[in-house]
Amino acid sequence: MNYEEIIKDIYTNVELIDNKGNLPSYIPELANVNYKNFGVYISTINHLNYGIGNYTDKFSIQSIAKVLSLSLAYSILGEDIWKRVDVEPSGNPFNSLVQLEADNGIPRNPFINAGAIVVSDILISNLENPKEDFLKFVRSISNDSKINYSTVISTSEKNVGFRNIALCNFIKSFGNIENKPSEVLDFYFNLCSLEMNCKQLSKLFLFLANDGCSLFGNKQILTQSQSKRINALMQTCGFYDESGEFAFKVGLPGKSGVGGGIVAVHPKQYTIVVWSPPLNAKGNSYKGMKFLEEFTTKTKLSIF
Ligand code: GLU
Repeated sequence: MNYEEIIKDIYTNVELIDNKGNLPSYIPELANVNYKNFGVYISTINHLNYGIGNYTDKFSIQSIAKVLSLSLAYSILGEDIWKRVDVEPSGNPFNSLVQLEADNGIPRNPFINAGAIVVSDILISNLENPKEDFLKFVRSISNDSKINYSTVISTSEKNVGFRNIALCNFIKSFGNIENKPSEVLDFYFNLCSLEMNCKQLSKLFLFLANDGCSLFGNKQILTQSQSKRINALMQTCGFYDESGEFAFKVGLPGKSGVGGGIVAVHPKQYTIVVWSPPLNAKGNSYKGMKFLEEFTTKTKLSIF
């Protein structure tokens, strides 16, 4: 498969289309990026790599980091983790409070904010130095010591994170948060502030295309079954309440973030990252969605 030619072709087409997305304004710092940035990077498990556009510029991965915190918590707790968070698509916006009342404080899945806040609580209870240990885990997956949190982004979000503060306290009232809400939220905002470029992100997620085993140093990050389950969750819950549409049009497990990044995983083949900051009405990168739809159409490679 000539990925390079296909990617170049689609990139040129998608770059030209009118961007109907908007930069998110609810995290002030995220509105300060150049909306024209557009980068793509593919890494295959056979070590073929290709990038185009702004693929070496760092961006805020936001919710994409929830896959990494879940991976670490799952590797520590095993199946017991599902007593604290469910595995069903929510059909509601990512920061919704309403379902929690009916579900007694058990979030629908680990990728909505409520679920990621519970996973943050689990990590705080199980790690000695939560922020440092989590960063070490992320860096160790792809042997990349340059990956870091952004204090500018985490502070920007902390100052206006009223909904997440409400979510955390609400879940605590049902007994599904063990630690102090302020500690849990501090971890959560740092988690979401992780920064990297398309190339780094694509390499980082390769373990999910490789049955849970990192290609960098041959480390088993997750068991094969855990890796399959994380991919299944990305497939059903990775795109807020547009997850069905992504499965329908793209047909790959993936995760998006409000920083405009999307990572998609083709198990046993590749990971591909697209970054373009303006978001559609559901909170997913407008051009990222278009690019990936074209990509699986042209390559005829999807998991279905
Ligand atoms: N930090 C963002 C929030 O909690 C993450 C949202 C996202 O990327 O989905 O609102």
